[in-house]
Amino acid sequence: MKTDTKMSTLGTDKKAGQSDMRLPPRYEQSTLEASWQKSWEQAHIYRYDPEDRSRPTYSIDTPPPYPSGEFHMGNALNWCYFDFVARYKRMRGHNVHFPQGWDCHGLPTEVRAERTFNIRKRDVSVEKFREICVKLTTEYIEKMKAAMQSMGYSIDWDLEYRTMDPEYYKLTQLSFLQLLKRGLLYRGEHPVNWCPRCETAIAEAEVEYVQSEGTLIDIHFSTEKGDLIVATSRPEFVPACVALAVNPTDGRYAEYVGKEAMVPLVNRRIPILKDELVDAGFGSGVVMICTFGDKTDVRWQHKYDLPVVKLLDAQGKLTQEAGKYAGLSIHQARKAIVDDLRSASKVGGSRTISREIGTCWRCHTPVEILSTPQWFMKTKEMTDQIVEWTNRVNWVPDFSKNRMIEWAKSLDWDWVISRQRLFGTPIPVWCCRRCGEMLPAKDEWLPVDPRSQPPRAGACESCGSTEFVGDQDVMDTWMDSSITCAVHAGWPNRLEEFKRLFPADLQPNGLDIIRTWDYYLMARHLALFGKAPYKTVLVNGMVRGADGRMMHKSYGNYVEVTEAITKYGADSVRQWAAAGGSTGYDIPYRWADVEHGRKFLTKLWNAARLILSSLQDYDPALPTPKLDLLDRWLLSKLNNLVKTSTNAFESFQFSVATEATRNFTWHDLCDQYLEAVKYRLYAGHPQDGENRRSAQFTLFHTLDVILRLLAPICPHITDALYRELWSSRPKSKSIHSDAWPVPNEALIDQESEKKGAIVVRVISEIRRVKSEKRLSMKAPIKRLKVELEEDAASVLRDHVDAIRQIAVVEQIEIVPVKRGTSGVFLQKDMDFELSAEF
Ligand SMILES: [Zn+2]
Ligand SMILES: [Zn+2]
Repeated sequence: MKTDTKMSTLGTDKKAGQSDMRLPPRYEQSTLEASWQKSWEQAHIYRYDPEDRSRPTYSIDTPPPYPSGEFHMGNALNWCYFDFVARYKRMRGHNVHFPQGWDCHGLPTEVRAERTFNIRKRDVSVEKFREICVKLTTEYIEKMKAAMQSMGYSIDWDLEYRTMDPEYYKLTQLSFLQLLKRGLLYRGEHPVNWCPRCETAIAEAEVEYVQSEGTLIDIHFSTEKGDLIVATSRPEFVPACVALAVNPTDGRYAEYVGKEAMVPLVNRRIPILKDELVDAGFGSGVVMICTFGDKTDVRWQHKYDLPVVKLLDAQGKLTQEAGKYAGLSIHQARKAIVDDLRSASKVGGSRTISREIGTCWRCHTPVEILSTPQWFMKTKEMTDQIVEWTNRVNWVPDFSKNRMIEWAKSLDWDWVISRQRLFGTPIPVWCCRRCGEMLPAKDEWLPVDPRSQPPRAGACESCGSTEFVGDQDVMDTWMDSSITCAVHAGWPNRLEEFKRLFPADLQPNGLDIIRTWDYYLMARHLALFGKAPYKTVLVNGMVRGADGRMMHKSYGNYVEVTEAITKYGADSVRQWAAAGGSTGYDIPYRWADVEHGRKFLTKLWNAARLILSSLQDYDPALPTPKLDLLDRWLLSKLNNLVKTSTNAFESFQFSVATEATRNFTWHDLCDQYLEAVKYRLYAGHPQDGENRRSAQFTLFHTLDVILRLLAPICPHITDALYRELWSSRPKSKSIHSDAWPVPNEALIDQESEKKGAIVVRVISEIRRVKSEKRLSMKAPIKRLKVELEEDAASVLRDHVDAIRQIAVVEQIEIVPVKRGTSGVFLQKDMDFELSAEF
């Protein structure tokens, strides 16, 4: 559509006092978006108002990200979903609570601090290390915040929080003490997943399983019945071997069961057991039970009450229990032990295998299992309760619910909540140095750091000693971030507010953190408050590169959010997030999608400018004029669109909402209607008056509605156009403080849609033929012959005048024909031929 040339000729009937349009002729996203972002922030239009009791609240519990300094496309997609909902709900009249937090503590920050400053945390003081972490975190937060702001997210920045701030971690400590009082926490020595690089316990949710190549080696164990061969990929665990086991149904080894075997190199006598968990088909069918090679070893050690040989220390080095191998790393020990086994002729064949190993999700070091004293939360006994509440929550899409249930059921260990790190929420507990009695902090002592502060109590209640040892561990970072729903809602001080905001209406997060974020939130809040912390969980898929693989820097398919915004603007990137795929499924990042979004914005901008210029003498307060067929056609479609879009937003189907509105705008409004009514808008035309006013009425309402429907997806351009639309009219606030459109049932009219479609089709067919002949749309045609079915022909006869005006035709001949042979024929002597059938 070439609108700019027409601008000056339209709507010249301007009333006195009306200003000229302030919109620049070209849509420039870079200046426009930044200035709107600033203006929204200054006007505080996204603030939650706790005093406002007139509107229902809508609370969104957004997962606080790790301040990594990077806001990648996956984050952009996450936050787009949060923001689409926040904006939609605000327009639906809700007092929206949309906070933004930062999950500061944790392994990633420590690992990064060590790498950035090339230090090991052991080499500096706790205070110094914490200071470095806080500084780094603060810088990273600022970077990510800037990226979020440039995406135009409607976050209420007054509700920003950082889990490393004392006022926040005080609440983490308070919740710890409450769970302790309820008997849901305990300290005990149990095997846990351990990262030797990070030197800390980690939870099952932090273990990433990957396929890795290894060597399977056959080791000979001597027994009184002859040698037993054990195939293992971890020969370094031979010194920790405490039993052999075979499957009870495995006839080959029946006579060995109950006898003893000798562990090579360390010469320890160990029992030969039978257990149905042994896979007779793997290797020789005989397995070593070591403490602890894997989780099955943990189970067997417990089941058969086998001794524990603590083979590894915190750094993954072999301990004194390994005898001559003490002090070696796992890698060194493997080589030394295999060499020694070979010298002792205890090694048979070996072969390469691929097997699954657990790695630390942050540093990718293979995870070991260590038995150390830790704090645990009794989550395993909560499984039934978690499943029950999970079933009561609305999950979008539905399959994400099963992910949660399967995860909850798959856990065999309690949640290990202590970490052997420095940058974390301190565990608010001391122990009496003399008798070992535990002394938890009192609520009023919080926040407290027992690593450096003594308890305020005078003496131990059991033995009267005044010497205490503070707990040296910190909490798992998920202990900080899994109480956000309650903290946002005002717990523990603003209980009136808590009733309104808890549970959160929406828990939006990525598919990848169901097992952490959704699970831990559920467990913590059920334990503390007896109910699920959220009503609806909205899950987004992952972003893939254009090549279909996960977007990752090492794959060369990585795109920076800032690059995309700089090229095409946030409103284009947001359209990609909305329309790029179905909610909950992975979506590819394609530049073409973003570019398409940008083209749509240009189309919308140009169309809106044309419409706005024709509306300068339009007064929406006047009664509805008599509407023409095409007006009724467009308005009926528009009101159906409102229904479609509303339903789509209600069910979080952003792609459906976006596509429907873009299609309507691009095709029905711009390609068809605008082209068809231009002649009615020219001032001074004989069709002036009612006919002109009804076109203005239709354009005004249509533009008003589509801007609102697009506002959650494209907040910048819609606000700019909306304020212009209402600039000289009473309502002139931001579109984002205005209401979502309601379908006007009186304007939904099937008959007009059907009839209008016939007229529109004939017009577009004429336009198509003209364009094929490389003729201007204004090129006059002397005579036009339209052949079409009888019922359609009669509709057309009623609108011949309109078609003559729109298509610039002198004479139209309408010929009724049989079904399937209709077409538009243009006059022969103008060298036109038959157009395609339609
Ligand atoms: Zn690690
Ligand atoms: Zn004591």
